[in-house]
Amino acid sequence: MIKQKQSGELIIISGTTCAGKGTVIERLLNRNQNLSLSISYTSRPMRAGEVEGVDYFFVSREEFEKKIQNGDFLEYAKVRYGEYFGTPKEEVKQLLQSGKDVILEIDVQGAQQIKEMFPETILIFIMAPSMTEVKRRIKARGKETNEQIIDRFITAYREINEIPKYNYVVVNDDIDTAVAKVEAILVSEKCRVDRIEEIAMENQEEIIHEFLIDKDFVNEPLKIED
Ligand code: 5GP
Repeated sequence: MIKQKQSGELIIISGTTCAGKGTVIERLLNRNQNLSLSISYTSRPMRAGEVEGVDYFFVSREEFEKKIQNGDFLEYAKVRYGEYFGTPKEEVKQLLQSGKDVILEIDVQGAQQIKEMFPETILIFIMAPSMTEVKRRIKARGKETNEQIIDRFITAYREINEIPKYNYVVVNDDIDTAVAKVEAILVSEKCRVDRIEEIAMENQEEIIHEFLIDKDFVNEPLKIED
């Protein structure tokens, strides 16, 4: 019998801008009951359509810095436009203890911090098929200023250089295929010997004894002497 670990696994999903990692994660969560997403804290302003406690917990910079001092974050980083983003320690701890596998959708700096603390973390990087496709997707969204778009591009090129620090890279040129690839990675990771707590078979002598006295299996059942 194979006994899986009671606590869940930490899974980091990072990706370049417009790689579609949000959609990949949404599908993964809908299809896998044992998966859960950690909701980060951020000091950046809420965008139209975002929901408190669903996209992020939105706090001021002062509140964020107070939380840093209290040691409330598993990791945090200044990601974009100098704004803070951080993973709440207590919530993640509780989810893992309840046996859930927890996805952290965080940037490469946060991923590096988590990997150093918990080397067994599964690190997955989602990429758009090309930067030309990224340009097309940013234009189609049309939500940002030129300065913000350029900032996204510079960040994307910097992040691509960090891919060697990840365990897996998935190119999202087709959403169904990308989701299937991430699911395959998670299934394989669960089968890794170093993720299994115990491999124990039934007692060998008892099984052989049962076999030898079973008439349906052997021509001459064992005669057991008193
Ligand atoms: P936005 O939500 O502004 O489009 O992008 C946020 C960026 O910050 C993304 O690259 C996302 O992966 C990253 N991010 C979100 N939450 C966290 C977090 O808790 N920690 C870190 N280090 N990065 C985060």
